Amino acid sequence: MPKTKKGLDQAPASTAEKPVKKRTTHNTDTAAAATAPGTPTPAPQETPKTTAPVVKAPETPKEQPVTAAKTPEAPKEKPVTAAKAPEAPKEKSVAAPKAPKAPKEKPVTAPKAPKEKAAAKKPETPKEEPAALEKKPEAPKEKPAPVEKKPETPEKKAAPKKPKAPKEKAAPVEKKPEGPKEEPVSVEKKPEPPKEKPAPAPKKPEAPKEQPAPVEEKPAPIEEKMPQVPKEQPAPVEEAPVVTEEVQSVQEEAQPMAEPYYTPQPGPRRSIAFIGSECYPFVKTGGLADVMYALPKALSRMNCDVKVIIPRYACIPWEYQSKMVYRGEFYMPLCTDGRTFYVGIMEYVWDGVVYDFIDNQEFFSGGSPYTSIIGDIPKFCYFSKAALAALNYMDWIPDIIHCHDWQAALVPVYLRTLFQTTPLSRAKTVFTIHNLRFQGIYNIPTIRYWSGLPDYVFNKDALTQNWLDANMMKGGLTYCNMITTVSNTYAREIQTPAYGEKLDAHLRYHSGKLRGIVNGIDYDIWNPWTDPMLHTNYDITNVLPRKKENKRALQEELGLWQDDHKFVIGLISRLTNQKGLDLVNAILPQIMDEHTQVVVLGTGDTMYEDSFRYYEHVYKGNLCSNIMYDEGRAHRIYAGCDALLVPSKFEPCGLTQLIGMHYGTIPIVRETGGLKDTVQPRNEFTNDGNGFTFDRYDAGLLLDAINRAKTFYFTNRYCWDEMVQRDMDKNVSWENSAWQYRNLYLELT
Ligand code: ADP
Repeated sequence: MPKTKKGLDQAPASTAEKPVKKRTTHNTDTAAAATAPGTPTPAPQETPKTTAPVVKAPETPKEQPVTAAKTPEAPKEKPVTAAKAPEAPKEKSVAAPKAPKAPKEKPVTAPKAPKEKAAAKKPETPKEEPAALEKKPEAPKEKPAPVEKKPETPEKKAAPKKPKAPKEKAAPVEKKPEGPKEEPVSVEKKPEPPKEKPAPAPKKPEAPKEQPAPVEEKPAPIEEKMPQVPKEQPAPVEEAPVVTEEVQSVQEEAQPMAEPYYTPQPGPRRSIAFIGSECYPFVKTGGLADVMYALPKALSRMNCDVKVIIPRYACIPWEYQSKMVYRGEFYMPLCTDGRTFYVGIMEYVWDGVVYDFIDNQEFFSGGSPYTSIIGDIPKFCYFSKAALAALNYMDWIPDIIHCHDWQAALVPVYLRTLFQTTPLSRAKTVFTIHNLRFQGIYNIPTIRYWSGLPDYVFNKDALTQNWLDANMMKGGLTYCNMITTVSNTYAREIQTPAYGEKLDAHLRYHSGKLRGIVNGIDYDIWNPWTDPMLHTNYDITNVLPRKKENKRALQEELGLWQDDHKFVIGLISRLTNQKGLDLVNAILPQIMDEHTQVVVLGTGDTMYEDSFRYYEHVYKGNLCSNIMYDEGRAHRIYAGCDALLVPSKFEPCGLTQLIGMHYGTIPIVRETGGLKDTVQPRNEFTNDGNGFTFDRYDAGLLLDAINRAKTFYFTNRYCWDEMVQRDMDKNVSWENSAWQYRNLYLELT
């Protein structure tokens, strides 16, 4: 059993129980209550345990001149770079050869068809068939004769307000002759007629409408597209020759996408230690947790040894706590006055990744990872140093130490000062900015006391900011070997005063070692075909009819009028001013017409929570505000909405628009940060693009973007549906990004 140390004045903290659901703002920087250097703030009292203090971390500050920013570190081993090759393919896929844009006007198809069709398809098309490639083979025939108005679902639940059936040209659903072309993926194997594709594993039978009827009518081009899994194969063509068998595909159906979209690659093996404050599924308050989970997992499939180090919060579900294994303990000096603290190491190995939890109940017994700046500064000074000390203790010396956000920003500083003489010092450090707004700023005396760092790091080129404050993130940026942020656009933006959060000049100075690598999403978790939280699973071959089912189920779950014809807009976000909610509030009354419904899911600032509650009251039946953190509901909203709103003031990367696209929900975003890098605006002339965008932070422009989307949805459903399929087919997995990180590691080592 893990030994944990408690402060004298601390009540025995109960071990974890509930997962951290509610988001808490990481922001700590502000409200810095003055704390005298001599009088350490909320200093957790410490009672050294009598048992063997195996202190690993050297503490004595040696006077090394603060040479601060080590420049990038010339890539010694050029050769390694070779590895990059693999990425190329993917990108391509996205771009894909735009096949002849399908005739949008094409007569609409038979309305009903959709459902049955969906059913029929299943049998034959194995979800797998990455191959799906050949797009449009049959498409041609598809062109169904111009149909009449689709009577539309018999099962439609009494739709209260039947909007005068918007011109939704009968759902083009299956038809989409061309749709497929988009998919570059197809590239290689185009020949096979759709039928070959074994039906995507009918994971869940979906019994209802699907009559087993083997008769698959025109394999809508869509079918080929295949669910995400396929394209993933980063690997070049032949790579998966084996796959050819339908038989095999059949079995695969059973397990959705089990493995791999990642093909193990040969090449130099590297070891990487990830250090950060949260990691899904143990503890999550935002996108950082998703990255800390998905990136290590993706790297472990790319010939990397990965260890993730996070605090052992009491709020980590018992389900995981109970599986942790005790790895050791020691005492570590931390503060300038020599105070030592207990460090326990608990380990959990899962899915190819080793998770080490730093245990100390004085710091991590709260119900949430973050509290206030006063409590967080000591907590993360301790955590940064303990993580390095733990690596030394376990004698696990990685090639790369990858730190995330301000909570781990002191790691590079410790490594180049107090740990300079330990074996760990040979490791190179990468620091990733997930959100520059939160930097870990407090007065110098307090941070100096709690970090125990030598005085010379508190200079204006490293930790000092504005003469009086110490900025932990600034110190990390200075001492790390490479800085990355989560999108290219954000990497550029943060070098400007408008987005630089007062570190723009510092970032410009270090721009030589700054680069952007966009995030991805984990297809094992975010996969509409296997997602257990959805009402109805679907893939690109049957998204059109099944999305309607999910929409209806969502409307029922949320108490909205059930009507397939409504244009449903989703908003899943932390309710803070970063997310552009003031713009949303300003125009809500203008978008709430009889054809539109809005679903909000999030928690955060009271001001926004209250305004959304108010609007729910005003537009009862058409607007639902879910002021809560609910993973399952988030999944169902992604699946049941037609569009997803992400009008952020700034967005380092953003995951919701990626998830939305993968679930066939069209993003409406502001062109900033990762939103700009991942959502290509719709081009009405070429009929391509993934969503609707606006540039300036202006409510009028947001309204215009929403109206463009709405008009497109109601007047050109055929092309809208093509976009839905195009988005589902877009590769937004970690594959490509993980390769870029891996190559970065190789460059550094
Ligand atoms: P940020 O990290 O700035 O909060 P991201 O878009 O990077 O924003 O990541 C947000 C993640 O948190 C997504 O996975 C999203 O689905 C999830 N999320 C946000 N709010 C909620 C909520 N209220 N309930 C469930 N999931 C949420």
